[in-house]
Amino acid sequence: MADTLTSPMHVEIMSPDGAVYTADGVEMVVARAIDGEFAVMKGHLPLVAALTIAPVRVKKDGKEKQIAVFNGFLEINDDRVNIVSPQVEMAEDIDVARAQAAKKRAEERLASKSADIDTDRAQLALNRALLRLRVTKSL
Ligand code: ATP
Repeated sequence: MADTLTSPMHVEIMSPDGAVYTADGVEMVVARAIDGEFAVMKGHLPLVAALTIAPVRVKKDGKEKQIAVFNGFLEINDDRVNIVSPQVEMAEDIDVARAQAAKKRAEERLASKSADIDTDRAQLALNRALLRLRVTKSL
């Protein structure tokens, strides 16, 4: 089991509704910035990164938790990792059937290639659905 004295990162994930996830003794955080995935461990230099629609993986006590983060920013300072995002969902709050239906809808829209379809909007809806399915391990 990890010793929190050697892995004392503090993680806070905030949405406009307030803190969605807070933890001490975190060993590692993995997130995806617009230029790729990166990992944060104790002693990381200060950083601000713009996040995409992707899981944030938090490793604590040897176990990994995945949290759905829909854009936003990650800031590292003094072994504190702060994520501020317009939308954050914990796996246990995600309705898998709804996300599967949203995925199907978005894929059908993208496949139709109709002039009436807003492709960017359909792609973003697909990205949101895939993220929900990924963090609930339903893909
Ligand atoms: P849908 O087409 O199913 O509404 P969406 O990606 O368009 O999906 P959003 O616009 O991202 O939905 O979210 C609208 C609200 O619905 C938010 O509060 C979001 O947390 C919630 N929500 C969307 N999909 C799910 C889901 N599968 N499970 C739980 N809450 C969801």
